[in-house]
Amino acid sequence: MLLTGDYHTHTVYSHGKGTVLENARRAAEIGLKEIAITDHGFGQMAFGLRHKRVPRLVADCKQAAAETGVNVYVGVEANLCNDEGLTDFNPPDYKDFDVFLAGIHRFVRFKPFWRGMWNMLWVNWWYTFLKREGSDRLVRYNTKALVNCIKNNPVDAITHLNYLSFCDVAEVAKAARDYGTYIELNSKKVHLSDEQLAAVRDTGVRFIIDSDAHSVDRVGDTKLVDELLARVDVPRDRIDNIDGRTPSFRFRAYKEAHL
Ligand SMILES: [Zn+2]
Ligand SMILES: [Zn+2]
Repeated sequence: MLLTGDYHTHTVYSHGKGTVLENARRAAEIGLKEIAITDHGFGQMAFGLRHKRVPRLVADCKQAAAETGVNVYVGVEANLCNDEGLTDFNPPDYKDFDVFLAGIHRFVRFKPFWRGMWNMLWVNWWYTFLKREGSDRLVRYNTKALVNCIKNNPVDAITHLNYLSFCDVAEVAKAARDYGTYIELNSKKVHLSDEQLAAVRDTGVRFIIDSDAHSVDRVGDTKLVDELLARVDVPRDRIDNIDGRTPSFRFRAYKEAHL
């Protein structure tokens, strides 16, 4: 599927392989109008974005846009830090950024640290390893974290919902619908079963499709999502980055109103 924009791509600013310019060139080559550079948030312990590198990231995005003619947005894929919905991307960081994605990840400076390590890393990993559904307690914890994240932050999209983070996907989608946050259909990871996608769709929430590219050749890639959408009927007009449309992102509106 041809995207208007790919709003979830990684570069060498975290653990992607390509540079900002290389991702933008690839976007131009395959006909995308827009791309967001969304490296992992500041709390990712091994390879997260570093505050001191933000000015360089901003300059790189500006230069890549000028060179390729593609809109290149400065973005972040923030990490959830606890079940109150705290993330590692906060108001003092907002001024330099255009796109705010958030998702549950491992090896993050959770708050409090050991409680987060236990729930978000270890218990999620354990049930994934066992190939079992998460326990009710775990599903409640993750669902609360994601719903609070949507309520308390101007998040544009929740990335790879349910990947290594068992949750009540319909409950999260209802919060996303009510607050104007997109549910991302991620083309790098299998994260929703067909039944779960149908349940998310039935809430009326809106979607974007992203590659989650960690290498230049995957920018704009939608193969996995194409296969999912061949099995589960989601109306095209509920997906806001195809057919020439661009999403109306909540973070941009928040910045216009508050900064
Ligand atoms: Zn992610
Ligand atoms: Zn990602």
